Amino acid sequence: MTDWIAAAAALRPETRLFIDGAFTPAADGATFDTIAPRDGSLFAEVSAAGDEDIDRAVRGAATAFESGVWSRADRRTRQRVLLRLSELMLENLDELALLESIDSGHPIGDSRNVDVPNAARTIRWYAEALDKIYDEIAPTPESALALVTREPLGVVAAVVPWNYPLIITAWKIAPALAAGNSVVLKPAELTSLSALKLAGLAAEAGLPAGVLQVVPGIGRVAGQALGRHPRVDKIAFTGSPAVGRGFLTYAGESNGKQVSLELGGKSAQLVLADVEDLDACASAVAWGIFYNAGQTCHGGSRLVVDARVHDELVEKVIAVGASLVLGDPLDESTQIGTIASAVQLERVLSYTAVAQSEGVTVSGGERIRPTGLAEGYYVEPTVFDHVDNTGRIGQEEIFGPALSVTTVDGPEEGVRVANESAYGLAASVWTSDLRTAHRVARDLRAGTVWVNTFDVADVITPFGGVKQSGSGRDRSLHAFDSYTSLKTTWIDLGRGSRY
Ligand code: NAP
Ligand code: MG
Repeated sequence: MTDWIAAAAALRPETRLFIDGAFTPAADGATFDTIAPRDGSLFAEVSAAGDEDIDRAVRGAATAFESGVWSRADRRTRQRVLLRLSELMLENLDELALLESIDSGHPIGDSRNVDVPNAARTIRWYAEALDKIYDEIAPTPESALALVTREPLGVVAAVVPWNYPLIITAWKIAPALAAGNSVVLKPAELTSLSALKLAGLAAEAGLPAGVLQVVPGIGRVAGQALGRHPRVDKIAFTGSPAVGRGFLTYAGESNGKQVSLELGGKSAQLVLADVEDLDACASAVAWGIFYNAGQTCHGGSRLVVDARVHDELVEKVIAVGASLVLGDPLDESTQIGTIASAVQLERVLSYTAVAQSEGVTVSGGERIRPTGLAEGYYVEPTVFDHVDNTGRIGQEEIFGPALSVTTVDGPEEGVRVANESAYGLAASVWTSDLRTAHRVARDLRAGTVWVNTFDVADVITPFGGVKQSGSGRDRSLHAFDSYTSLKTTWIDLGRGSRY
């Protein structure tokens, strides 16, 4: 078994900005600290891009785009480079996984078995797809020929969060690069290191300089500068609703750039009285909220359950939660790691008092201090029972390992309560009746609905939300819509005699 703690101590991660094919400090020398949530220690000081760096990165990306070195490269060239990047990610699995676990607090087992392979597969999938997509010919009159072709947009800025750094990055950069765009990536402050490693691997794979710039920095500085830059053609954002709406303002006040937003949710797991297998259901409900310590945008944070199965199900969910191994992300036996930062820890814990003030029954809800890791950001699996869905516990995205439980009477009330949310990212329904399953799935207002399961997905299906969960879709061939524009070329073929 690898000694991940020793491996972490020996790591010398790249911490500088990656612009035009080279690692470089910020122009003004600024840095920010990156803290390891497993024990609250300082792990690295990362260069913080300022306005000047962002301007250089965007201009470099635009120059690369206009040169055609990538945007007009043969599709097979783009394919070869991206396939090589995917391979290199797997060749560097341990280092990428370790960086991810140190930075985000994901258990090393998840980083090695889920995050890095999933991100690598996403890049491979878009690389494989890019020469299998055909353009269109419009049904014109005989006297014309109209081609409808897809073209890359230009410079895409991806601004991403810290909860699944590599996976969410891959969801954005893979289709964007496959389509021929240049990308400027701003990782989250909390989790920049795996993105910088990725930048080096992309260069090694043969991605030309300027095509992928990685600019860690402070959101309101570096993120805002990207949002307002006149040479950025598109913002692809995942994160909080407030910042997401900020990007719409930046776009509106600058060049009207396109913005796609993925803004999290308060996803309902609706369990009806005719659920077939209550044990399987309890396991899915518990993992649906406790995985990654609840820091999942589509996490199933609301259990909406028929009164007839409420008591038995809640008891089972609490038991599953108690059985999960919570602890050091660098221990291979750990199933649930940390909250990503001290700020998020405070935020998550503050909801225990909110629950008490709302008369909710609280199970858990406390910080844990494992031996030797007392300063780490650990929170026990939490169940808030007897929640009025219209209160703060029922409505606000806690982004921690906290499940809100509301009891309903039958599918009709279940659907109404499940939909009683400003968000609409995902939902599930548990029933043994096929008609009910289809009808409820239709009526749930969410970008993804699971039936008798939760959180199974793959790059092959689109992912995104309705209502305040955002717009646009990551994953699947539909993601190309976000990174391409349609061009019409109308050709006159003449009239009268045929030649
Ligand atoms: P956030 O601030 O929205 O962060 C997302 C990204 O936006 C980061 O790269 C961030 O940079 C950047 N950013 C922050 N402020 C910005 C600004 N004023 N202008 C431009 N870019 C900016 O998310 P958070 O504050 O870390 O998390 C807060 C809450 O958001 C969580 O509790 C959770 O509810 C939600 N969230 C949702 C998702 C999701 O997957 N949908 C992911 C993470 C968080 P910095 O890293 O420098 O702040
Ligand atoms: Mg923030």
